Amino acid sequence: MKLPMILRRRLLAAALAAPLGAACAAEQDSYAAARQRMLAEVEADMRATARSTGRNRLDPRVAAAIGKVPRHRFVPAQLADRAYENRPLPIGHQQTISQPFIVALMTDLVDPKPADRVLEIGTGSGYQAAVLAELVARVYTIEIVQPLGEQAAALLKSLGYRNVETRIGDGYLGWPEAAPFDAIVVTAAPDHMPQPLVEQLAPNGRLIAPVGSRYGIQLLQLLRKDAQGRAVTRSVLEVRFVPLTRAR
Ligand code: SAH
Repeated sequence: MKLPMILRRRLLAAALAAPLGAACAAEQDSYAAARQRMLAEVEADMRATARSTGRNRLDPRVAAAIGKVPRHRFVPAQLADRAYENRPLPIGHQQTISQPFIVALMTDLVDPKPADRVLEIGTGSGYQAAVLAELVARVYTIEIVQPLGEQAAALLKSLGYRNVETRIGDGYLGWPEAAPFDAIVVTAAPDHMPQPLVEQLAPNGRLIAPVGSRYGIQLLQLLRKDAQGRAVTRSVLEVRFVPLTRAR
């Protein structure tokens, strides 16, 4: 549509005068269609894996969060145009941002509720933390590689996520001062279920972790505690994550 010149000038002036936040929203919009296509691929993966995962579609709140978080901001700038492919991407320091389907599935399986306090191990790019932050009251996230953790903290802050607390350290040990957690999401693979994390999970809590050997098969395991705090674990899906490393 062709606008009269005077109107076009006014729109331009308004755009130039817009605060930074609005400029960001406009930037996100240029990826909105790609993000919706990615979400459709994620939903297709949900259907394809439903027999193992027990879920054939995302909870609508989780789908909305995946459809909203600007993944292109969480990948290196030169990969921004590939940010909405349904695949993991390198983020430096030999680490990766997980595949969107896996982020969505893990988020869905811990049943995030608005009042929940959630712990994430392996901040990485900060993307999973942002998705969780859209869904729960408070997110605590720990990263062992200092520059990654610092970069993610700055990005989450600049995107306006005020309900995320970040820490540099060994996530195997959890975050005892902030425990107990309603849910725990482990995004690096330990070779066994970390006992400190199990202990820091509240009654009725849900913990998801890829457990397995460094280079072999890992199984996504979902541990649930009942109201008495008794834990039951089930295996969900074969996955491949970077290893959970321990502080040296
Ligand atoms: N959740 C991330 C994906 C992270 S990849 C995202 O959304 O981008 C796994 C991350 O776990 C890496 O950044 C790795 O450095 C980190 N990590 C590995 N071992 C860790 C440990 N013991 N404690 C905390 N983070 C760890």
